[in-house]
Amino acid sequence: MSSVAVLPAVAEPAAPELRAATSTIVHKFGGTSVADAERYRHVAQLLLAREEAVQVTVVSAMKGVTDALIAVAGLAADDAPHWRDAWHALRARHRGAAVALLGEHAGQTVEWLDARFDHLAEVLGALAVIGELPVEVLDRVQGLGEVYSAQLLGQYLQSLGEACAVLDARDVLVVDRGELGVDVDWVQSAQRLARWREAHPSPRVVATGFVARDRRDRITTLGRNGSDYSGAIFAALFNADELHIWTDVDGVLSADPRVVPEAVQLDALSYDEACELAYFGAKVVHPQTMSPAIERGLPIIIRNTFNPLHPGTRITAERTVSGPIKGLTLSPDLAVLNLEGTGLIGVPGTAERVFASLRNAHVSVVMISQGSSEHSICCVVKQAEAVRARDALLHAFAHELNLGQVQRVQLTDNVSVLAAVGDGMAGQPGVAARLFESLGRAQVNILAIAQGSSERNISVAVDSRHATKALRAAHAGFWLSPQTFSVGVIGPGNVGAALL
Ligand code: ASP
Ligand code: MG
Repeated sequence: MSSVAVLPAVAEPAAPELRAATSTIVHKFGGTSVADAERYRHVAQLLLAREEAVQVTVVSAMKGVTDALIAVAGLAADDAPHWRDAWHALRARHRGAAVALLGEHAGQTVEWLDARFDHLAEVLGALAVIGELPVEVLDRVQGLGEVYSAQLLGQYLQSLGEACAVLDARDVLVVDRGELGVDVDWVQSAQRLARWREAHPSPRVVATGFVARDRRDRITTLGRNGSDYSGAIFAALFNADELHIWTDVDGVLSADPRVVPEAVQLDALSYDEACELAYFGAKVVHPQTMSPAIERGLPIIIRNTFNPLHPGTRITAERTVSGPIKGLTLSPDLAVLNLEGTGLIGVPGTAERVFASLRNAHVSVVMISQGSSEHSICCVVKQAEAVRARDALLHAFAHELNLGQVQRVQLTDNVSVLAAVGDGMAGQPGVAARLFESLGRAQVNILAIAQGSSERNISVAVDSRHATKALRAAHAGFWLSPQTFSVGVIGPGNVGAALL
């Protein structure tokens, strides 16, 4: 799926490409970009066409391979007899890619792959014997696709005569897997990378995404879809000038093009805007994965492998205020939870009790709203957690409900949140008016509204049945200029009179 705003291939780039022969650029390619031999060849051409002093390419596993590895480990642990077939199929796919890529020079790479797959078969055989799948083993197995993939691209570049080294991130990247995600041990990782670099000074490096080591030197991963994070981490470690995330769309769009066909591609976004859009489910890299780049002020460029001449979307610290709204997103599968009571008015601590009880029930709050009358407080939660959330409030306010100080705890299912995001709305009157006018004209009823004082995001909760209509109406409200047209009727007969 591509945006409708695809520029012709010869279009003037929105921002000049940084191509200085002194620059260090980190590129990251996901699984679809390296799905088969033909895609690897395309990626290599794209890389070779660029002039960069140091070019680091972080790759995912071939499309579907991570899932296949997880599946084969599960099959082996269940001692399902067909785990060997699944293993054979994976090996055949990688061998096939190597032969298709390297032709008569494939021998060494096929041998390398065979040795890796033999080792994998031993691990799987052991799983079949013990009959379970320890997480440590799953961590080792699920990241192998990246190891194979980096080898394939690296060998291919070498076969084209390029000085290129393959970096196995498990040799340098040290991370801590905590409850809130994966933290990088920057000092250790930088030291290991410096040592690796001394032995491998080549201008081109192909690195594995997704995989790493923990502080106890065990192989681990950065979590599913972790290769974007790998890209940002390596951009930081290599002190890169830019991080290019190559995907299958022309960049970030103003709205989901499956819902809003007239969505436009965005040339530039600020980090804040990108984070707001990502939190609300737009197809942007996740804020956490971008943090190593954001903290260093490193530009992130989202661009299309299938349309490499398109400049993509540049995400930087800069605020380009073109139009108040940059993007509109829709988050489905939510519910509105409302606590209402005359006894809440002017009583300190009610909000605290609401959120404490939700926290204790492990409910994450998506959106919050309370009017200044303090008569009710409302929050939006995930549909899957909604009943748990309601029960938590019923329990926490049981006493007040009994006394009639709280009249009701009410749950409205089937809610979506529409969010309008843009730095440009800060301090600018009329943005909310435009949004609500569009929704009003489309007959969309609003269940709740929230806008933080950063004024970067206006969120409205609506009935999910109206969500698509609401998104389209809001998009039209911001992106289509209001058109007036005049119709003249000359000598009105029957039809003209009826029209008038
Ligand atoms: N291959 C890994 C996954 O599918 C990591 C990635 O592609 O980002 O989750
Ligand atoms: Mg992926």
